[in-house]
Amino acid sequence: MARLLTADPDAVAEAAAVLRASGLVAFPTETVYGLGAAARAAAAVARVFAVKGRPADNPLIVHVADAAGLADLGADVPPVVRDLAARFWPGPLTLVVRARPGLPRVTTGGLDSVAVRVPGHPVALALLRAAGVPVAAPSANRSGRPSPTTAAHVLADLADRVDVVLDGGPTAIGVESTVVDVRSGAPVILRPGAVTPADLGLAGLGGGDLAASPGTRYRHYAPACAVEIAPVGAGARVAAGLAAQGRAVGLVAPGRAPEGVVQVARPGDAAALGRVLYGALRAAESGGLDALVVEAVDDRGLGTAVMDRLRRAAGSDKRTKNARFDVECP
Ligand code: AMP
Ligand code: MG
Repeated sequence: MARLLTADPDAVAEAAAVLRASGLVAFPTETVYGLGAAARAAAAVARVFAVKGRPADNPLIVHVADAAGLADLGADVPPVVRDLAARFWPGPLTLVVRARPGLPRVTTGGLDSVAVRVPGHPVALALLRAAGVPVAAPSANRSGRPSPTTAAHVLADLADRVDVVLDGGPTAIGVESTVVDVRSGAPVILRPGAVTPADLGLAGLGGGDLAASPGTRYRHYAPACAVEIAPVGAGARVAAGLAAQGRAVGLVAPGRAPEGVVQVARPGDAAALGRVLYGALRAAESGGLDALVVEAVDDRGLGTAVMDRLRRAAGSDKRTKNARFDVECP
């Protein structure tokens, strides 16, 4: 059973010792909770894959305490990295560089590249400093479940499978980091996040080869109940329509839920939706709702990342709109 520790300095020191001894520690970052293992300890990293049920070809992000930590992991690091690290680290930006030989294959998913991030959360940074080793950490959920944004979410998925859970409260962003491939010298976004294309001086998501980021091939973020995306301003109307068909319906929208619909969250903008989305998906599932209606936000800035996760949860990146309610709600 995991030990749940409030993230004070003693707990951080204890968790760091667990990491150094090849144990598994779930910890808060500013994006979502991570499930950490010493990145050079192949057996510990293999356990991360096993407890998550994560496909072996989906590599992990390696977390380090500062930009100097990247130098030990990456080879042929292009000059643009210095600039991006100075501007966005610590923060929600993951950089994919060529891997130095010597990292276990299990950590890089068998690739010759490695994804590196300095997280912008005081507990994560304190843990990385105390551990003194790079820490491979995917999101601390079972594969296919929404990423955890609270310690309770971590426990719901992994309580009996990890050694320590550090509770640092709800995460500030709620959406995973922006993943950027910098190997060519020009940044290419592989996964949208809180660091936006405009922040990176790019016109848009552009032609990034999403297949180059193995994780984007999998249907992430999927809750057990149906998720319906309502157009901007239409959340309440869509929810009322579904409720009239006799379904148990929840609503995530800035407006008030109509009668007969459960108000699951009331986010006022894209940042607020990012913070509550994954928790709302979990709440809809544990509350036994048939469907969760989530009102869209404008697809720009942080909204691009939030809508990416929402579309994945709704399955609308793969399936047709009409097929969505054919999905069984276990
Ligand atoms: P997660 O930690 O669960 O958010 O997943 C990590 C994400 O980073 C996944 O989408 C991976 O595909 C991506 N990633 C990790 N390492 C690499 C890499 N070497 N090249 C491209 N994408 C990577
Ligand atoms: Mg994940």
